[in-house]
Amino acid sequence: MGNVFRFSAAHDSIHTLLQRNRSWAQRISALQPSLFPSLANSQSPHILWLGCSDSRVPETSVLDLLPGEVFVHRNIANVLPANDLSSLSVLQYAVEVLEVKHIIVCGHYGCGGVLAAMGNTKLGLIDNWLKHIRDVRARHRQELEMIKDPAQRVKRLVELNVVAQVHSVKRNSNVLEAMKKRGLQVHGFVYDVGTGHVNLMDIPKDPDAEVYEV
Ligand SMILES: [Zn+2]
Repeated sequence: MGNVFRFSAAHDSIHTLLQRNRSWAQRISALQPSLFPSLANSQSPHILWLGCSDSRVPETSVLDLLPGEVFVHRNIANVLPANDLSSLSVLQYAVEVLEVKHIIVCGHYGCGGVLAAMGNTKLGLIDNWLKHIRDVRARHRQELEMIKDPAQRVKRLVELNVVAQVHSVKRNSNVLEAMKKRGLQVHGFVYDVGTGHVNLMDIPKDPDAEVYEV
C-alpha cells in the first residue's frame, strides 16, 4: 500500500501522481513480473462492475484486485437505464465478447446521487439522470415514507436502487441469453463507505421478469 495521498495545491500534484504511478508499477512488477507483459496483449476479466462514480468506491481497491481482473462502468448512482448507450455498450461487450461470469451492480451508502433524488431541489441537467432514481423512489414511496429517520430512508433507497438496477440488467436480452446458455450470474452489492465492507444483497425476484423474456 502507498502512503495516504491528498491531492492539494501545496505541492506539484500532477508530478507527484506520476511518481506514485511509477513506484506502483514497480511494486506490482516485483510481486508479479508476468502481469504487465501478459496484459499488454489481452484482457480476460471474469467480473463486470457497474458502480457509482463516487471517489470512495474504487472497485479494484475495494475488491483487492489487480489490473485486468474487473471490467468497469461507473456513473452517478450506478444507474443502468435501458436507453443509455454508454452502459449498454459496456454491458454488451462484457457479456458477448469478454464473456464475464459475474455482473455486480454496486450501490453505496452515502451516495450523493441517491440523496439528491430523495430530495426535491432543482439541480439542473443532472435532474434528468436522477429521474431514474426518482422512478425507484416513486415505485417504493409507501415503504420509504414509513421510515421516519431520514438517514435510514436514504439508505433504503440506496438498496432499492441496487435491486432496481439488478432487475434492469437482467431485463437486457444479451444478459438473459448468457444467463440461460452459460450460467452468467448477476449480483447486487452495497458498499459501506464508513467501514470499507461490501455486502451481498438478497435480490427479490423481478415481479415483471416474464414481460422482458425474449
Ligand atoms: Zn454514489
